[in-house]
Amino acid sequence: MITRTSDGVQAIAAHTPNADWQTQLREVIRDPATLLDALSLPHDLLAGARGGHAQFSVRVPRAYLNRMTPGDRDDPLLRQVLPLTQETDSVTGFVTDPLAEADHTPRAGLIHKYAGRVLLIASAGCAINCRYCFRRHFPYEDHTPSMTEWQETLDYLRNDTSITEAILSGGDPLVSSDRRLAWLCEALAEIPHLRRLRIHTRLPVVIPDRINEALLEWLGNTRLQRVMVLHINHPREIDEHVSAACQRLRQVGVTLLNQSVLLRHVNDSVDTLAELSERLFEVGIQPYYLHVLDAVAGAAHFDVPDDEARSLVARLRTRVSGFLVPRLVREIPEEASKTPL
Ligand code: SF4
Repeated sequence: MITRTSDGVQAIAAHTPNADWQTQLREVIRDPATLLDALSLPHDLLAGARGGHAQFSVRVPRAYLNRMTPGDRDDPLLRQVLPLTQETDSVTGFVTDPLAEADHTPRAGLIHKYAGRVLLIASAGCAINCRYCFRRHFPYEDHTPSMTEWQETLDYLRNDTSITEAILSGGDPLVSSDRRLAWLCEALAEIPHLRRLRIHTRLPVVIPDRINEALLEWLGNTRLQRVMVLHINHPREIDEHVSAACQRLRQVGVTLLNQSVLLRHVNDSVDTLAELSERLFEVGIQPYYLHVLDAVAGAAHFDVPDDEARSLVARLRTRVSGFLVPRLVREIPEEASKTPL
């Protein structure tokens, strides 16, 4: 996996050549020792990593790993996926369900929190496990609907004409097969009052080969307007493969937006945020939201205080065009929308 070039610099070999996305998904790195070895990092990080891994397992696709710098324990991409010893600390205010989603689940796999749109848990898994994920404790086992339950969910949407947008979330919805997603997309398109299909996903970023012909076929041929909200936190997450995947999506009429999470030691500088916005726009993605961290247990070490977040965005505004400045928001349980900071 690691090769040494003639000038002595280590580089990670390209991800498995010709592997389809399902193979890449099966071959994700699933334990901290393999992750450290793949990046030539010392095992002094292992004891701490194992504590966090026991709570929320390591998952890192090789295509994402390839963008990390071997030997750099502070790599901003690595920091998003390597458990640290702080994850097992108990911190006041950091809880297992920071968005109180349990109070808004009228049936398995369905979250109806905001007016006009519903969120469907279309998959219980992700290709990558991000250490700051607000759903790291989500009881996915209670949200894997049977076919009958899916039909009931579709009935719920049919019977509420105020719902105009269906949001596929997860986990990552694009972990599901194209056959299943095509069926769901078709069923949603038959509901006359639905206008939009929104997909929240990190797959095009972490396994760009996921954007294959089969996906473009069902996504490109629905009558629904399509919006894909990607999740990219650092400019180095965007390589030429991600750029090509975005281009394929745009060619079939998908609007691309990005939401980031403001994370300590990952993207908490004006330079990084400015470069992120520039890179996003270069590849056809509109910067949309910059979230402050949801207070989920195990992620307190990523937190950036609100005042610092506001100051960062104020300075970002002086550095880039206005349309490249994402909205700084917090999600507060019981509020009717995200709350601008
Ligand atoms: S891809 Fe999204 S849902 Fe999955 S672990 Fe990362 S932040 Fe959470």
